[in-house]
Amino acid sequence: MTEVKKIAVIAGDGIGPEVVAEAIKVMKRTEELFGLKFEFEHGLFGGVAIDEKGTPLPQETLEICKRADAVLLGAVGGPKWDNNSKELRPETGLLGIRKELGLFSNLRPAVVFDCLKDASTLKPEVLEGTDLIVVRELTGGIYFGEKFRREGAYGEEAVDTCVYNVTEVERIVRQAFEVAQKRRKKLASVDKANVLETSRLWRETVNRIAPDYPDVEVEHVLVDNCAMQLLRRPSSFDVIVTENMFGDILSDEAAMLTGSIGMLSSASLGEGSFGLYEPVHGSAPDIAGQGVANPIATILSVALMYRLTFGYGEAADAIERAVKQVLDAGNRTGDIATDRAQALSTTEMGDLIANALEGAAVQA
Ligand code: NAD
Repeated sequence: MTEVKKIAVIAGDGIGPEVVAEAIKVMKRTEELFGLKFEFEHGLFGGVAIDEKGTPLPQETLEICKRADAVLLGAVGGPKWDNNSKELRPETGLLGIRKELGLFSNLRPAVVFDCLKDASTLKPEVLEGTDLIVVRELTGGIYFGEKFRREGAYGEEAVDTCVYNVTEVERIVRQAFEVAQKRRKKLASVDKANVLETSRLWRETVNRIAPDYPDVEVEHVLVDNCAMQLLRRPSSFDVIVTENMFGDILSDEAAMLTGSIGMLSSASLGEGSFGLYEPVHGSAPDIAGQGVANPIATILSVALMYRLTFGYGEAADAIERAVKQVLDAGNRTGDIATDRAQALSTTEMGDLIANALEGAAVQA
């Protein structure tokens, strides 16, 4: 009998509920086509939770997430809550949920769809074949190290410390090796080992555990070189793994290769197979409630969930193929359309992708 997988659904604010509804539509279609079984439990999160429960991350939402196998998140935030105190801001809920669920890595794929190559600022021939994923360490490094001010010989000084222990490095690097094993088996470990001690520990750790993954080809790339190569030869990368601050910068750079924020999916993972999946974009208050948001980022986040948490590779491939087919046929939401008059609504795009799944599944 098919094992029932529990999905915590936290749609959030703005376009969050609109795009999440389309992702669930696609999941339901894959239940029929691939014999999968999901149980959805919905929780309040973000601004809507502040309004109804007086906190961005209510305890019951956290419990729904903790008893789930995976979390599907929309987006949070909006002008209504922008002037709230820190503990009553939707974004505080985002930090809280990552911490409470022990999510220590963030994965962001950057895939250039051939039919959207012109949406990028780079030349189409440079982008050809780009399909990479950045694995960023999320809970350590300079963002979390000790910070302070002091009086120095030349006036006021500010100090940020960057600390990594070997356990933190090893768990994310192992995760990246495992992701690479499920893809094209190439791992670029990015550091600044020529000047930083944390980077030297990082590099030593990668070299020590690499023999456990003999099928994965590893290269060490200095972060400055990586920033250049992402613009020069992005298609040569498969999986990039790096520490928190480098990952923050490189994942935004990689994201821009694809041209549209409405297309970018992400996963945050902890120990084991549990993960939180969400689009990279925010709640887009400027278009919320109009039914025009692009649901593809959230739908592609489901493909990530299938592959990384559940090992449903075939269904994940089918979702990605369905998205490609629908785009190749010229269908566009407003954010990626050249002719806005022809743009599809959020539900029309979701319907087309859900309907394309059957054909995409047959091609497997
Ligand atoms: P945003 O990503 O919400 O929007 C930026 C621009 O991209 C807007 O013009 C928007 O209309 C467009 N856009 C975004 N997603 C789209 C989609 N799926 N389809 C079509 N167009 C899309 O970023 P922002 O405007 O800086 O932030 C808005 C709110 O979202 C803020 O409150 C911010 O704090 C929050 N936010 C939340 C998250 C999250 O929940 N993870 C992430 C980023 C921002």
